[in-house]
Amino acid sequence: MSNDLTSIIRKHALKNALDFGKANIGSVVGKVIAEMPTCKSDMKTTMQNINEIVNEVNKMTKDKIESELKNYSFIEKPKEEKKGFDIQNAEMGEVITRFPPEPSGYPHIGHAKAAFLDYEIAKQFNGKFILRFDDTNPEKEEQKFVEAIKEGLVWLGIKWDAETYTSDNIESIYAHCSGLIARGYAYICTCKQEQISELRTSMKECSCRNKSINEQEQTWDTMIQGKVKEGQAILRFKGDMKSLNTVMRDPTLARIITKKHYRQGTKYKVWPSYDLAVVVMDALESITHPARTKEYELRDELYYALCVALGFKRPNLIGFSRLEIKNAPISKRLLKPLVEEGKVDGWDDPRLPTLAGLKRRGVLPEAIRTFVLSFGLSKVESEPTWERLLVENKKLLDPVAKHYFFVPDPIELSTEHKNTVSYRIKGEERKAKINGKIYISKSDFKNLTKDEVFALKDLVFVKFDGKKLIEVKQNEIPEKKFQWVSASDSLKCEVWIPHDLLENGEYNKNSLEIAKGYCESACANIKEGEMIQFERFGFCRLDKKTKGKLYFVYSC
Ligand code: ATP
Ligand code: MG
Repeated sequence: MSNDLTSIIRKHALKNALDFGKANIGSVVGKVIAEMPTCKSDMKTTMQNINEIVNEVNKMTKDKIESELKNYSFIEKPKEEKKGFDIQNAEMGEVITRFPPEPSGYPHIGHAKAAFLDYEIAKQFNGKFILRFDDTNPEKEEQKFVEAIKEGLVWLGIKWDAETYTSDNIESIYAHCSGLIARGYAYICTCKQEQISELRTSMKECSCRNKSINEQEQTWDTMIQGKVKEGQAILRFKGDMKSLNTVMRDPTLARIITKKHYRQGTKYKVWPSYDLAVVVMDALESITHPARTKEYELRDELYYALCVALGFKRPNLIGFSRLEIKNAPISKRLLKPLVEEGKVDGWDDPRLPTLAGLKRRGVLPEAIRTFVLSFGLSKVESEPTWERLLVENKKLLDPVAKHYFFVPDPIELSTEHKNTVSYRIKGEERKAKINGKIYISKSDFKNLTKDEVFALKDLVFVKFDGKKLIEVKQNEIPEKKFQWVSASDSLKCEVWIPHDLLENGEYNKNSLEIAKGYCESACANIKEGEMIQFERFGFCRLDKKTKGKLYFVYSC
């Protein structure tokens, strides 16, 4: 063994002993290999030496360790910036992921997180990404939601290699159900819902479990032929009624729903539960890395048990935390009533965390991507505020957005100017006809002290003499610079300013502030959907243009 290696081992053993009271062989091995990877070629000798040296060091006094350590230097390697995700069992070209939304509502920023993670993992490994509509509940799903989800993903810049529908695979799912019954892994339960719940709570098995396989098979056939009424029979997995994980207490695999399905019509009466559908679909599509949010963690046990029962290979399930934003309803369940009760201006209300709402608010897809991916695959629950997303948006808009003047809550002031003036905003030439009257914001005006000189931004210095504005020629630049517009050469303008939609879980009545005023007439050239910056106000998106009035949404 080289002296080099001995001294590297000794150094790390001493350091580890000093840091933790005693040196730990495992920790020392790691450090030694990191510093001298070649030692791996003869691990037997390396381990022998590490053992000996660690034992020796662990007999030394603290003082001795400290004094000897002074002879060694530790060069901290700069941590390499992590590229990509840390994914188990991922081979280049082999990874297949999927994003499985249920088309039962409009996509929101939580879906963006899940979809971006699935998409980026596939991309990192040169794999495939599937968009799968998990549509097995005819009562909740609609074609318009399929369209909205696809539109949202396209807007985000997410491209899928295949688009699939669980409901196109019902025959295949039925075949797997038959297999489960035949092999004794599943049974038909005809108990009432209350009784099922009771037995689940008391951890007792249901007598339906013991019916013969033959009888089960016959009932199953009558179920899929549509001869059994809704609620009269379900297919259950033979789990473990004594399991501490309640998910395992004979969960439902399929149930009867007679409502017409938006895609399959009345073809099927028996629909698989999420737990069954996801396992079969992941296997049919050879998904290697199915990712889902942490709240499904208890269902992982069932996922794997079904893989065993169905003879499927276990994929590498990935869990990540659900995206929550403070005071925002990031869930279909919370969003729906707000829209249905008319508390917001549709699914694209700029206060909503829906993709349509964020788009209307002028939040760029790239900002959403950076924001949602910043949490990575961590399972840590956090509740950031909107600010963290909006900061990313500002970074993107700042270099590109054109600047304009907008005067909210205006006060009309007389001025000596009665001509056409020209001025430059961020290098861009503008002209305005002034006919003796201009607007500035009331709040700015109120902040002036008597005779204070201020700047009409990019135009002149003035002061208010009690009746009108008088131009002041001076070299010194005044502290206050206010944006202004000509009263006779400007456009009516309204800016919607979104605030937190919820407050202590309730609808916040003050969540929408509307600033009314006037903007430069040059704003007539802004296109609907364009992002601009109103000076001393913020980045805004032109939402709507009508004759004589512009409507903006405040972004950040
Ligand atoms: P909701 O609670 O809004 O109804 P959901 O989970 O029912 O959401 P699905 O369409 O079933 O919505 O979800 C599709 C995928 O998106 C799932 O993998 C789910 O884990 C993920 N997802 C949904 N909401 C979030 C969120 N807030 N953060 C991260 N991922 C989410
Ligand atoms: Mg769901």
